[in-house]
Amino acid sequence: MAESKVRKVAAPKAKPRKPETHLGMVRRARKINRELAELYPYAHPELDFDNPFQLLVATVLSAQTTDLRVNQTTPALFAKYPTPEDMAAAVPEELEELIRPTGFFRNKAKALLGLSAALRDDFGGEVPGRLEDLVTLPGVGRKTANVVLGNAFGVPGITVDTHFGRLARRFGWTAEDDPEKVEAAVAAIFPKSEWTMLSHRVVFHGRRVCHSQKPACGACAVASLCPAYGTGEKDPEKAAKLLKYELAGKPGQRLRPPADFPGEAAALAEAAAHGGEVADLAVAE
Ligand code: SF4
Repeated sequence: MAESKVRKVAAPKAKPRKPETHLGMVRRARKINRELAELYPYAHPELDFDNPFQLLVATVLSAQTTDLRVNQTTPALFAKYPTPEDMAAAVPEELEELIRPTGFFRNKAKALLGLSAALRDDFGGEVPGRLEDLVTLPGVGRKTANVVLGNAFGVPGITVDTHFGRLARRFGWTAEDDPEKVEAAVAAIFPKSEWTMLSHRVVFHGRRVCHSQKPACGACAVASLCPAYGTGEKDPEKAAKLLKYELAGKPGQRLRPPADFPGEAAALAEAAAHGGEVADLAVAE
């Protein structure tokens, strides 16, 4: 599968370039977005959720862990606490036990109890659809708020997580480290209508190709548009071995991926690893 998904892209020529104008950078940035849209037409949030409350909780849990780990944890959590009212009334130790696999479980439990109580008391038990309300909830910053707005409410948002920040800098869209400054810089480059899908595409690329430590430059579809080409492995064959998830013919992170996702559901990998006995994970919802 890796061969069929990864298009061969000519390595950038080593000739010296003139300094790039701002307009040139914007054009190049938009071209990168178009290329990534072709590569990942199925880009999506990699957390399983059925409603805004579930997405909010899953996003809080996703700090410092993988989306796959969260997806393995949330079915039992939402079966026990389906609404903010239920979660706000949870026995803290029982909630902690359920979310323990996601790490930092005491702090995360505290945030979930706090945000559930705030939803119950201040927002009629509903997740609000405005950034200024979302960021008042315990444990909810701009990144989490933008994930919820973009994917549960259809409000365009740029989600600056570790992958997005790293790629925005490698692409030369910004030199900033601060996520809010990265968000502002990228917002000035792209039309609002692109923000949510751009976020998914860039995060997809960061997880699959442009890794933090070993970017697969030699197998990267936007190599010719990237000033950081050569940061990672340039040899195409060696680079192809660094690809992850569906680009490597492997499962994604979702137990219930969207219908157009070309990889396998994560649940299948789990099943294979556990002799086919993880059905409880998949059906607990
Ligand atoms: S060329 Fe290398 S640094 Fe640039 S986006 Fe691709 S993998 Fe990342």
